[in-house]
Amino acid sequence: MDRVSLIREIYRRLSELFPVPYKPGRNPVGQAVFTVLSQNTTDRNAEKCLENLKKVTNGNLLKVGELPLEKLILAIRPCGMFNQKSKALKELISKWPEVEKRLRELPAKEAIKLLTSFPYIGSKTARVILTFAFNKNTFPIDTHCYRVLKRLGIFPENWDKDRISEFMESHFDGEFNRVFHYNLIRLGRTICKARKPECEKCPLKDLCGYYREKKETKEEK
Ligand code: SF4
Repeated sequence: MDRVSLIREIYRRLSELFPVPYKPGRNPVGQAVFTVLSQNTTDRNAEKCLENLKKVTNGNLLKVGELPLEKLILAIRPCGMFNQKSKALKELISKWPEVEKRLRELPAKEAIKLLTSFPYIGSKTARVILTFAFNKNTFPIDTHCYRVLKRLGIFPENWDKDRISEFMESHFDGEFNRVFHYNLIRLGRTICKARKPECEKCPLKDLCGYYREKKETKEEK
């Protein structure tokens, strides 16, 4: 099977496994704040800090950029790396109305460039904001997603995350990439876990390089 057909088949099986699509339901500024907060922490911690920020801004997240630094840090402390995250939020949200307008207009590649010009916003964070808040065609790769893709062996070993994202963005549309990205995360959280992947439960085992290797090693013994 060629790479594109393989990805389509994996997509199909994951959509059967996770039939309910993920709908973040946040407005663009909420999604941007949440995405910055969620780096290197759990979604639960990021949600907690987002709620704290809503409280201190009376529900108007655009005021995050005006908050005194100490107040901002106090609100986002539970999600860690608060010095970097507070700096990123202050810079991004104080310019948000203009940034949001440009992000709407720009093609995905240019929008990634604009977002990554802010401190502490890398290409993965930029892609998450763009796919979930702006419906752009981007394919973000977090640790779960990367682990599952590596194990499946769809892409050459030496391809980095940006190269994989760019391949996905040039071969599939935004809806496909959004669903595939999130379903890979779901598989990574529930079955293809970091320490002990539960391959016997996995609907992708006949397509998976890691599983094939494990089976061959067992047979050789
Ligand atoms: S077969 Fe195992 S390693 Fe491969 S994707 Fe499924 S759980 Fe992960």
